[in-house]
Amino acid sequence: MSKKIFRSIWMVSAAVLIAALVIIMAALYDYVDSTQREQLVDETHLASRGVALDGATYLKNLDSDNYRITWIAKDGKVLYDNRADATGMENHKNRKEFKEAEAKGTGESSRYSSTLDVKQLYVAERLPDKSVLRMSIDQKPVWMVLLGISPSIIFVAVFAILISMWLASRLAWKIVEPINNLNLDEAIQHVDEEDFREVAPLIRRMTQQQEQLRKDRDEIAKSAQIRQEFTANVSHELKTPLHAISGYAELLENGIVKDEDIKPFAGKIRKESLRMAKLVEDTIGLSKLDSGAKEMKWEDVDLYTIAENAVDCLEIPAEDAGVSISLDGESCPLYGIPETLYSIVYNLCENGIKYNHPGGYVHARLENGTDHITLTVQDSGVGIPKEDQDRIFERFYRVDKSRSKEVGGTGLGLSIVKHALLIHNATIQVDSEPGKGTCFTVRFPKGNLGE
Ligand code: ADP
Repeated sequence: MSKKIFRSIWMVSAAVLIAALVIIMAALYDYVDSTQREQLVDETHLASRGVALDGATYLKNLDSDNYRITWIAKDGKVLYDNRADATGMENHKNRKEFKEAEAKGTGESSRYSSTLDVKQLYVAERLPDKSVLRMSIDQKPVWMVLLGISPSIIFVAVFAILISMWLASRLAWKIVEPINNLNLDEAIQHVDEEDFREVAPLIRRMTQQQEQLRKDRDEIAKSAQIRQEFTANVSHELKTPLHAISGYAELLENGIVKDEDIKPFAGKIRKESLRMAKLVEDTIGLSKLDSGAKEMKWEDVDLYTIAENAVDCLEIPAEDAGVSISLDGESCPLYGIPETLYSIVYNLCENGIKYNHPGGYVHARLENGTDHITLTVQDSGVGIPKEDQDRIFERFYRVDKSRSKEVGGTGLGLSIVKHALLIHNATIQVDSEPGKGTCFTVRFPKGNLGE
């Protein structure tokens, strides 16, 4: 950038310099030209006086190399010429300057001699005896004048070029110096300063991008940390049932277990394997939702039908737990991903069964409102303490760890629900009182309908 600025400034000053030189030289030439003419007029006037008094004698004594002096008689005959033999010269009565002087007292003319490449300027003055004195000088052409003063011109030009180079480099440096010294991390603080007015939009844009980059970086770091924690948790959660299984298997292998205990041991092994399978299944489901459920298909569905299926599937576990499960409500058409909608109803109802007492109930209800479709899952279970209600949607968060494990929980059910709701733009509300029961209220905005 500084090179570009330097080049621009230098080129401008060089152009100005050349233009100034041309103008000055033209003016100079013009000045020299008119001064020469005035001098010639004065000289001719003075010499005329001399000739009027002394005649040819005066002229012969007049020693002049610069001027050509010609004395012309009244009839045009040349009486005297300091550069040629007067007798051999032709009659001058038709010369312009002679005719003018004859008529008006003074005359002037200029003629160009191509053989000598000079312009001759003639000035003539009429004497009292009607003869005419004519003086002339050679006027050098422009190029000769320039040639004469060329050493000075070259000196001035070189000097000016050097000065302009030095000034241009200083100026370029002065312009870019504040930018070079700008701390890019704090650039926005200087945006209103005089030095940065032109680059202010650039600074603003850069700061915005820096901010965005910082946010992106933080987000990437955060999600990397979440992923790392999740992996660690999954490994830990898998390790426990695995150790249990291998422990039971070892006991069976060594024949330590009594015959009547073999069945319960096998049952324990089966339960732990089911827990592992569920954990793997939930992890896969969650990671699908994490990546935005891209490969999942959106469809027009009836949430009531989906809920019916989920509740049907939970009939047996509910019966095993001595809990009654029911669903009522109306048809609720919705545009969504069927399997994730299913997992919402399933997980909420399953939790209602898992964290309940024998003889308790789980009741799901669907309402097709004007703005929202509302799903409520009410149970008569153990309830959730106030301080835990916000945290139950975190991965692997359990209010009562041993109870969760006892009932085959993975700690991921509500995380899956949260993600599935997020994808559908839905909200969830928890109303719970320990010992009395819990009610989850899910609201799907109607905007999703038929999108
Ligand atoms: P889990 O697989 O342990 O059930 P969830 O993510 O589904 O994991 O639930 C997290 C925790 O929230 C559970 O361990 C439980 O303590 C609590 N919880 C969830 N639903 C209910 C409910 N309906 N009643 C009481 N506690 C619940």
